[in-house]
Amino acid sequence: MSIKSNLNTIINSISKEVQLVAVTKTRSLEELQELYNCGQKVFGENRVQELLAKFEHLPSDIQWHLIGHLQTNKVKYIVPFVALIHSVDSEKLLAEINKQAQKINKKIAVLLQVFIAKEETKFGWDEQELMEFLVNKKYKNYPNIDIVGLMGMATNTDNVEQVKNEFLYLKSIFYKAEKEIENSNFKIISMGMSNDYKLAIECGSNMIRVGSALFS
Ligand SMILES: *Cc1c(COP(=O)(O)O)cnc(C)c1O
Repeated sequence: MSIKSNLNTIINSISKEVQLVAVTKTRSLEELQELYNCGQKVFGENRVQELLAKFEHLPSDIQWHLIGHLQTNKVKYIVPFVALIHSVDSEKLLAEINKQAQKINKKIAVLLQVFIAKEETKFGWDEQELMEFLVNKKYKNYPNIDIVGLMGMATNTDNVEQVKNEFLYLKSIFYKAEKEIENSNFKIISMGMSNDYKLAIECGSNMIRVGSALFS
């Protein structure tokens, strides 16, 4: 299959309300350029170094999303151009993004990554910690951050029921968070990857992060 037909298959299977983030980690510049030529303009990378290297060589109207774990010392490199950071997994990271954004007088759109899986290796806020942060309006300490939604990664398992429950759990947290946060931009639920994006959309996702299904 070609990148073009894979892309069309995915786009034709989702509604206009769902945004596709093409996950391009480990893929070559040629493959990214091909995706771009097919009309895809939203790319997700999970490592800062790789994102920077690709950003330099590709068209400037690409929206770059950082989707992987972000170290505080790397924040300054992406803040000037990143369109959305999906993986804000702590208040410490949020504070650093705010600080770097302030320096260049920008407001950065982020998603708070929520821990929904049953795997120790995954990152994110737990529900209690997140709600405490929102209810006490702590996010107001970070004026250069625009919290536009939540992101989650389900457990890597063939157990569809479990993955579904984790997606529904994220949606339930999204609704609780939406009631607390005073931000009309809070709209995005980023969940679902190549193997489970259809299930994720059924469970309320409106932003999917798809990599391998585009390039297989
Ligand atoms: C790699 C990755 C994806 C895409 O995974 P595929 O199974 O290749 O679609 C989505 N989200 C994150 C955070 C990733 O690291």
